[in-house]
Amino acid sequence: MARKKAPKDGSAPSTRPSWQALTKDELLSRLATDGKGLSEEESGQRLEQFGPNALPEVRSRGLLVRFFSHFRNLLIYVLLAAAAIAAALHHWVDTGVILTVVLVNAIIGFIQEGKAEDALRAIRQMLSAKAMVVRGGRRMSIPAEQLVPGDLVTLQSGDKVPADLRLLKVKSLQVQEAALTGESVAVAKSLDPVSPETDLGDRRNMAYSGTLVTQGQGAGVVVATGVDTEIGRISTLVSRVESLTTPLLQQMDRLARWITAAVLLIAMLVFVAGITLRDHTAAEMFMIVVGLAVAAIPEGLPAILTVTLAIGVQRMATRKAIIRRLPVVETLGSVSIIGSDKTGTLTRNEMTVRSVITLTDSYNVTGTGYDPHGTFEHDGQTSDPTADDLLRQTLLAALLCNDSSLQKREDASGWEVHGDPMEGALLAAAMKAGMNPEHETKQYPRTDLIPFESEHKFMATLHHSHEGRAFLFLKGAPERVVEMCKEVVGAGHNQPKDREYWHEQIEQMAARGQRVLAVATKPVRNEQSELTFDDVESDLALLGLYGLIDPPREEAISAVGECQAAGIRVKMITGDHSSTARAIAAQLKLQNTKEAVTGHELEQMDDPELQKRLNDVDVYARVSPEHKLRIVTLLQQQGAIVAMTGDGVNDAPALKRADVGIAMGRKGTEAAKEASEMVISDDNFASIVDAVREGRTVYDNLKKAIAFLLPVNGGESVSIILAILAGLTLPIAPLQILWVNMVSSVALAMALAFEFSEKDIMKRPPRPAKESMLTPFLVWRILLISTLFAAGIFGIFSWTQYHGYSLEESRTYAVNTLVLMEIFYLFSVRRLRSSSLGLSGLFGSGKVLIAVSVVLVLQLIFTYAPFMETFFDTRPIPAAMWLVMLAVGLALLMVLELEKWLIERWGRRDVRRRTD
Ligand code: ATP
Repeated sequence: MARKKAPKDGSAPSTRPSWQALTKDELLSRLATDGKGLSEEESGQRLEQFGPNALPEVRSRGLLVRFFSHFRNLLIYVLLAAAAIAAALHHWVDTGVILTVVLVNAIIGFIQEGKAEDALRAIRQMLSAKAMVVRGGRRMSIPAEQLVPGDLVTLQSGDKVPADLRLLKVKSLQVQEAALTGESVAVAKSLDPVSPETDLGDRRNMAYSGTLVTQGQGAGVVVATGVDTEIGRISTLVSRVESLTTPLLQQMDRLARWITAAVLLIAMLVFVAGITLRDHTAAEMFMIVVGLAVAAIPEGLPAILTVTLAIGVQRMATRKAIIRRLPVVETLGSVSIIGSDKTGTLTRNEMTVRSVITLTDSYNVTGTGYDPHGTFEHDGQTSDPTADDLLRQTLLAALLCNDSSLQKREDASGWEVHGDPMEGALLAAAMKAGMNPEHETKQYPRTDLIPFESEHKFMATLHHSHEGRAFLFLKGAPERVVEMCKEVVGAGHNQPKDREYWHEQIEQMAARGQRVLAVATKPVRNEQSELTFDDVESDLALLGLYGLIDPPREEAISAVGECQAAGIRVKMITGDHSSTARAIAAQLKLQNTKEAVTGHELEQMDDPELQKRLNDVDVYARVSPEHKLRIVTLLQQQGAIVAMTGDGVNDAPALKRADVGIAMGRKGTEAAKEASEMVISDDNFASIVDAVREGRTVYDNLKKAIAFLLPVNGGESVSIILAILAGLTLPIAPLQILWVNMVSSVALAMALAFEFSEKDIMKRPPRPAKESMLTPFLVWRILLISTLFAAGIFGIFSWTQYHGYSLEESRTYAVNTLVLMEIFYLFSVRRLRSSSLGLSGLFGSGKVLIAVSVVLVLQLIFTYAPFMETFFDTRPIPAAMWLVMLAVGLALLMVLELEKWLIERWGRRDVRRRTD
């Protein structure tokens, strides 16, 4: 129990013991525990003594480093050089303005980036790991951070080992220790002590923090936590800070850098040409060139795209979709197929037993939810379940071959289940027949079990009665159980029914959408204390069938509809029976519910055949996790972008392979979560569709930010280049351009990051995965707006010059006209294709209205404040002239709305022509 903090008694920390070599008694005495779990009080004290079970996070870059990172940007270097040269030329005002603008820009970037990083960190914390421990005699799930040495932890397949454990119990436990040893083949665990010198990879009786349980179950006592664990010794830091970037953002970053380099080159040429060909002084040309550089480089773009992405991720988190890998935000918008589990994702996972069929009779069960009150009806009459011995056996099997428990809610709002909902439903049914789980489990204690795994689709338990009888109970997927009851079907009864009979019953129940489960039993020798697969493969006697209902989630039905409108095909991929699956699929209104492909059929088909079936089959039943991988791979080969859900440890390969791997937050194992790009915290299909919608929205917003910022740069550069080419005075002075780009434009564009989804966002087909951000439509838009901006700037400048205004006044008009045009364009760009002229288009976004108000106030200060006159050479302008400038902005909006209308009409005619 070594730890950096000295123990309370003040003794020096002991050296690390070889936990693997101790006997169980030595182990427990060193850890001061009886191996049955700590009390709440003791664990609290130890937590104080040993600190939380966590590795310190990588210290995110210090504030100063972060702040100065905003100066590491080519444009900033250019500006700083410009400030230095301006200072050398004694242009103090210019120097001051450039430096201030650079500083303000860095401050804005610093604050925004900080917020984005905080948001992501908060989202990561939503995914913190859990551990199952026994505390105060009760099994409970606690945050892994709260584990202390001496805690008793239980493990099952899919878990990530939460601390270093010395194992006390193993049942086919296998652990993959690649995180520590680099070895990806799982290691089987055992209990015997090994020598102190044994290598880490061979310490079979230990399970180390950060490794993954791939199979079986186990329990162990915590020997080390936090930095004292083996993984903690290798790397005492966890790298949690993910850089805020995606392929698209990198692409845009590269574009911005290319533009910068090109602009610098052109600027240099213009500088030389200006001096040699046009007799400008170097000082004059220098300022012109700085103006050109500032005008043409989209300096605000990368920051705004990052913020847009971070806001999208944050929004998804509020909609229960937690993004683990940022690039997936982009992929979500292109998803064309969602492969979803059924139970708990498409259905509510609130199960209730509706019918029980035994060899001789069939019963309907009444009651709702997990409330263990209800009656058994036979032929429409209430009947006494205790009178039928076979029914009693059937119920006892379901009660004992069961790991769940039911509890009345504290607020008396009903009953809740701890553990698997299906097992909870079985327990409720047994309790409805008057059985008491506590009493029965004492009467027939469990000696061993084979846990449920979706590969073998059953669970079995071994019991010994106090009278010296031993038997096993098994429950599982009915066709599988019926097949397993090879030798005797309905043993101990005079009229055994053949398999045909049972298959018919199963089919009938499943066709009603019920999940069917079979229970079976087998007597064994009293000496037998272990259960193996051989034990359950023969001589089983079928006891009966259960029919459970699990209705579809209402919101999943509408989400499926939404997907269909959005060109996304939903495929149900379930471990359940094909008739049950098809019945539920029909209730969910999936496209094709007439046929289903089962895991078995799937295995019979070769790839080309399956490819063909994949196109039109939407229901895949009785599939195992490996089948999922094949389905994903083949769908991807057909060009689909596949989102796939999963929860078990064996789902990991399919989740990794899918374009968007989605793990279930509640039901999902740590292994599934680690393999996925996204975790749905409420396990709900509707949340996946929400995430897709948000993904499409983020992409739209990135597009809008680009469509907004690039033409501003374009318009400004065109104006300057025209002026230089024609030998005219610049319509906007270089410092003024700096103001527009780094203050007004950034403030306005920032509002676009917060835009909500457009109405038709889920009515469009998925975006082609390879589509470049700069679509022909967007390039056209950028060119059109650049031209209109240039025309506006030049128009108002020349017009006012013509009417005898001073150069300073004309420039003030030009700057304000440009900003007003930006404002009107902002309203237009909120809707890329549909009209913005409506209440929601104009007033729908509070953020836009705030940004516009702020920018208008800034422009008034810019225009009328005397100190601005000193810095930017502005002049107060008469109020009436604002009307003229407003008219120019309004005209721009009208032209753009006309363009949208024409494109829409043309598009519709085009579609009609194509469909005619
Ligand atoms: P989905 O894949 O849509 O979540 P599912 O829950 O039916 O569906 P699995 O968990 O793979 O998928 O279960 C497959 C089958 O195994 C179930 O249909 C059921 O018959 C059986 N089964 C599920 N849970 C248990 C359990 N705890 N004990 C015994 N059998 C079970």
